[in-house]
Amino acid sequence: MPDYQAFHRRSIDDRDAFWAEQANRIDWQTQPQTICDYSNPPFARWFEGGTTNLCHNAVDRHLKDRPDQIALIAVSTETDTEQTYTFRQLHAHVQTMAAALLDLGVRKGDRVLIYMPMVAEAAFAMLACARIGAIHSVVFGGFASVSLASRIEDASPVVVVSADAGSRGGKVVPYKPLLDEALALSSHKPQAVLLVDRQLAPMAMTAGRDHSWASLQTKHHNAVVPCEWVDATHPSYTLYTSGTTGKPKGVQRDTGGYAVALAASMETIFCGKAGETYFSTSDIGWVVGHSYIVYGPLIAGMATIMYEGLPIRPDGGIWWSLVEKYKVTVMFSAPTAIRVLKKQDPALLKRYDLSSLRALFLAGEPLDEPTAQWISDGLGKDIIDNYWQTESGWPILTIANGVEKAPSKFGSPGIAMYGYDVKLLDEATGEELHGADKKGVLVIEGPLPPGCMQTVWQDDARFVNTYWKSVPGKLVYSTFDWATRDKDGYYFILGRTDDVINVAGHRLGTREIEECISGHPNISEVAVVGVADTLKGQVAMAFAVVKDASGLVDDKSRFALEGEIMKLVDQSIGAIGRPARVRFVTVLPKTRSGKLLRRAIQAVCEGRDPGDLTTMEDPSALQQIRDLM
Ligand code: ATP
Ligand code: MG
Repeated sequence: MPDYQAFHRRSIDDRDAFWAEQANRIDWQTQPQTICDYSNPPFARWFEGGTTNLCHNAVDRHLKDRPDQIALIAVSTETDTEQTYTFRQLHAHVQTMAAALLDLGVRKGDRVLIYMPMVAEAAFAMLACARIGAIHSVVFGGFASVSLASRIEDASPVVVVSADAGSRGGKVVPYKPLLDEALALSSHKPQAVLLVDRQLAPMAMTAGRDHSWASLQTKHHNAVVPCEWVDATHPSYTLYTSGTTGKPKGVQRDTGGYAVALAASMETIFCGKAGETYFSTSDIGWVVGHSYIVYGPLIAGMATIMYEGLPIRPDGGIWWSLVEKYKVTVMFSAPTAIRVLKKQDPALLKRYDLSSLRALFLAGEPLDEPTAQWISDGLGKDIIDNYWQTESGWPILTIANGVEKAPSKFGSPGIAMYGYDVKLLDEATGEELHGADKKGVLVIEGPLPPGCMQTVWQDDARFVNTYWKSVPGKLVYSTFDWATRDKDGYYFILGRTDDVINVAGHRLGTREIEECISGHPNISEVAVVGVADTLKGQVAMAFAVVKDASGLVDDKSRFALEGEIMKLVDQSIGAIGRPARVRFVTVLPKTRSGKLLRRAIQAVCEGRDPGDLTTMEDPSALQQIRDLM
């Protein structure tokens, strides 16, 4: 392997040759004619002329060499079940599901909305859609009827695949009533609804519309459904962003570029090998679940674990027990989950044999140094931060140890991945920032590499207007994140561009202040927002969750802790970053994917309407802040 810098350079300077080589990692029915058609920027069409199939690459391709190897492990600590499927068994189940979808009228290009808990049938449904060229749109099972209805409307699915219920923390969460409500709210009505009955909750079936998976499964048992070869640019799925900064955006992904990007990332970034086990703790409702629970590991010929349950039930050792049991080599989780584990007994990290595990990848949010250090010390494994977006489909910034081993720097997700021509731009002038340690907007010069979004589903104009802007001589994609780059090329994310605070003319990322506050030994989590101030323009406000609240008995003790935190900020950032107030709460408002909803906190602090909150996890969290203000 060449060294990483040369590898990256070549991916930009000799783009087509580079990606033509990467394309050999997957099976094609017809070889691509054009590697990248960028004749109509910012729309990039990857691997034009090629035909392939995602399901073939994830499943069928492995039948020759590893038919009896485990492909899928579905573990639920909610229903106390554990089920494994070999590639051969997975192939059979996916064909049965594909036959059921065809039976219900789904054809190539049709949309299928999947509203499912983390059960094997959800993966069967995704793969079955890919198999027949249908476009899946997975909606996170935690969403209720209003959010679901808007997604049904947007995707206009021919069929909805769902289940009687999910379960969370031992509590059954019925899905079917929410789905029925959503279908009543939506002006679009699907032809049919396919329902998996887990026998957790009763289901009222609508005759003529609702079909049971059990009966269709019997009917199509042993079905043979060949893969539909689709154009590389054929959409494989649509998926919504988390909605952290506003109304979620419907990301549309292609087929060929995505398969190539995932196949490449599995080797170069995750270093996962066929026959090993990959464990991502995410949910199929998010992009990490699409790329690194379902498609990526399977394309690489790895077994993948689908986990339904909490990280701390029956106890905080559950994930590590799975690592031991299934000899997991690569694990992927989110900082927010690690912060949950941090409140547990650290001895749980040592109770199981983790010798198979090589690395833990974390993404989704800034990984603060204390959390990174804690998990690194506890596991004694490589902790690899990686930064990306629903839009990108695979990491933008991280380290590619499969190309060349590079050190991680805590606080930084890493360096620019191949294919991404990452730049920092001065927000005011739009000029590119050269040199080290300058703050700017993180952008990617077009074309985006394979695997990234093609467009906003049915809204090319929104794609162009939301993400792209012309800066002297080039067209760039904005990530809407603010960052610096050090002399070694490592990026540090400072926060969302929306979250930048302007105190008396000084620009500060909320992340910088949060990072500093989370260094206080008694703080487990903190959110900082900028609040309008007549004197200074804006001031920082901090909301913190304390680890041990037993000492916070009165205003005096709260003031004392607030003072300590302010002093900490004064020392590391300067008085300019000092929050006007530090308030203590028991929980912070987050999206269902676990991201801090700073825009909602800020709106409440400024007495404004917090906007679209359909993605919020726990409404009482925002209420606490409202009460404090
Ligand atoms: P929306 O775009 O709807 O506002 P969102 O940006 O939260 O929601 P996602 O695509 O789920 O939707 O999240 C991507 C964002 O998450 C990134 O733009 C970045 O702000 C943040 N992020 C992801 N990984 C990291 C990381 N490793 N370090 C810092 N921030 C990260
Ligand atoms: Mg975003």
